[in-house]
Amino acid sequence: MAGHTAQPGRNCPLCPRLAAFRDSWREREPSWFNAPVPSFGPVTARLLIVGLAPGLRGANRTGRPFTGDYAGDLLYATLKEFGMAEGIYDQRPDDGLRLIDCRITNAVRCVPPQNKPTPAEIATCRPFLLATIESNRNLSAILALGRIAHESVLRTFGVRLTEYPFGHGRSHILKTQEGRTIALFDSYHCSRYNTNTGVLTPEMFRAVFVSLQAHLAR
Ligand code: URA
Repeated sequence: MAGHTAQPGRNCPLCPRLAAFRDSWREREPSWFNAPVPSFGPVTARLLIVGLAPGLRGANRTGRPFTGDYAGDLLYATLKEFGMAEGIYDQRPDDGLRLIDCRITNAVRCVPPQNKPTPAEIATCRPFLLATIESNRNLSAILALGRIAHESVLRTFGVRLTEYPFGHGRSHILKTQEGRTIALFDSYHCSRYNTNTGVLTPEMFRAVFVSLQAHLAR
């Protein structure tokens, strides 16, 4: 997969179901972004955060990961609290928010119906995730938001999923092909569902960032 680009084209045709869904939303909402959502933040960052896929009225509308829907409120508030974002998060891509030493991407770049990409779509989009990981030359840690992101990251490293089980607050040490060491941190996804049901509390989310920052400070 080496040499793949990190960003699919606006009309990426690789997942027919997602391309049809995207096209239908281009007709319904022509002013929305309605395209594969690019990663956000400096490519020199030491931390890469991997979400699941753009939300329909969030990143798919605004064109910036986690921007404009509930999941972004907790994520960006926490990043600001930990000094990994500065400026004002105003749910708009032109709010001037800046990420510091941190980049955000998604396992799947196009919005899936019902927020549920199929295993085939996750696999088809994985070369873009791999290229994103490879292009972050200073990468020291990856934060996977949810099991799907966790597993897709593991697959980019070509390791066995059973050796690195997903768990909120867990971390794993992975090695790149060039022998670089990268720590993978897991968190439950900061979705509205998880936060409303108490599966993920702001304190639980903060605790992951405390571990992450301890790792980055080493
Ligand atoms: N928005 C994103 O960009 N990714 C998610 O996983 C959820 C919301």
